[in-house]
Amino acid sequence: MMLTVNELRFMYRNKDVLKQIGFSIEEGKVIAVLGPNGVGKTTLLKCLNRILKPRKGTVMLYGENLLDLSTMDIARRVGYVPQRVETGRLTAFDAVLLGRRPYIGWDISTRDITMVDAIFTRLGMESLRLSYIDEMSGGELQKVAIARAIVQEPKILLLDEPTSNLDLKNQVEILTTIRDIVRDHKIAAIMTMHDLNQALRFADTFIFIKNGTVHIHGNHDIVTPAVIEDVYGLPVMIGEFGGIRCVIPGAANLATGE
Ligand code: ADP
Repeated sequence: MMLTVNELRFMYRNKDVLKQIGFSIEEGKVIAVLGPNGVGKTTLLKCLNRILKPRKGTVMLYGENLLDLSTMDIARRVGYVPQRVETGRLTAFDAVLLGRRPYIGWDISTRDITMVDAIFTRLGMESLRLSYIDEMSGGELQKVAIARAIVQEPKILLLDEPTSNLDLKNQVEILTTIRDIVRDHKIAAIMTMHDLNQALRFADTFIFIKNGTVHIHGNHDIVTPAVIEDVYGLPVMIGEFGGIRCVIPGAANLATGE
């Protein structure tokens, strides 16, 4: 296991959001963190890179507790793409180059520039290189933030609803690229997601959060109508369409009118 989270607990003032979170993940995998609004998915991501300080627990990455490392050492291991990205008067190129900051010594190297160039090409966003990020659409900005996290060369990519601002084509392209990068570089991506169909299509492992704990964690086999109804409180059907599993809201008798 590359990452093992043990007994993680986090409270906002007196609100116990994460009571006892534990799970392990392997390298080369995309993990979807699932559960209804307000259950603590964003809070969990922020605890994993210590933006929020857990009250208890460990986050062991290859035997090191991330929670004990310096901010710079965490940045060399964990890339984070928040749900809302901050803007400023920076070009997209410079914004992505900032992802190299944990590695830049006295000067920016040719390797830094080459990496930034490569990610603009890989994400199909060459035309945005010199655009100012404070003049960008939400989707463009989201791509810049993803590019920045990737050039950080993290072992773990944390992505908070990475496709929430993207149109359908960009959603599929970005998630496919993230999955390819995760496999090629043998890293892991932990993503919070609302769209269960996207999760089923792009994730290898699923973590359902309920009542501040991991309700269930596992591969595709655990994603069943019973689990989804338990966690989201909504009856669903799961079918297969062109070899891809799909979740459709509603009970079978509603759909057929029986
Ligand atoms: P999710 O990402 O699953 O929608 P969040 O992690 O954003 O859930 O939030 C979990 C709970 O913590 C929610 O009830 C939310 O209202 C609360 N919460 C989030 N941020 C704060 C904060 N800064 N202070 C107090 N409570 C918060």
